[in-house]
Amino acid sequence: MSKAKALRERVHQKYGGCCAYCGTAIEYKQMQVDHYLPQCKEKFYSRRFKKDVHAESNLMPACRRCNHYKRARTPKQFRELMTSLHERLQEIYILKVAVDFGIATIKPFDGKFYFEKWEEKQPAAEIKDTAAIAS
Ligand SMILES: [Zn+2]
Repeated sequence: MSKAKALRERVHQKYGGCCAYCGTAIEYKQMQVDHYLPQCKEKFYSRRFKKDVHAESNLMPACRRCNHYKRARTPKQFRELMTSLHERLQEIYILKVAVDFGIATIKPFDGKFYFEKWEEKQPAAEIKDTAAIAS
């Protein structure tokens, strides 16, 4: 197995085969590898925090939707975006109709990404250094 493939498989299994952000199970072939600290701010993170955005600890398994929605946002920016998502949804007329008919419900983001909940459940020794990067 090539180094790149082995790395990709480790990233896929990082959170039990689930998207690091929403927790949806993702097939290996469908997984997108997200840079938790965005690649476009590589110099900033390198100079200011001595963080390598290409380090394995910064690579997150992501579903297509989360990866596209997060884009090049920092973790803080992505969390802020998710925290106000329900407010933007409440403006969509057809969604208001669906709520009135009991077809849909809108609730705010609970503030934690799936990987954060996942790491809380793990024995301390097994937690990778992602949490250190996040802070
Ligand atoms: Zn996702």
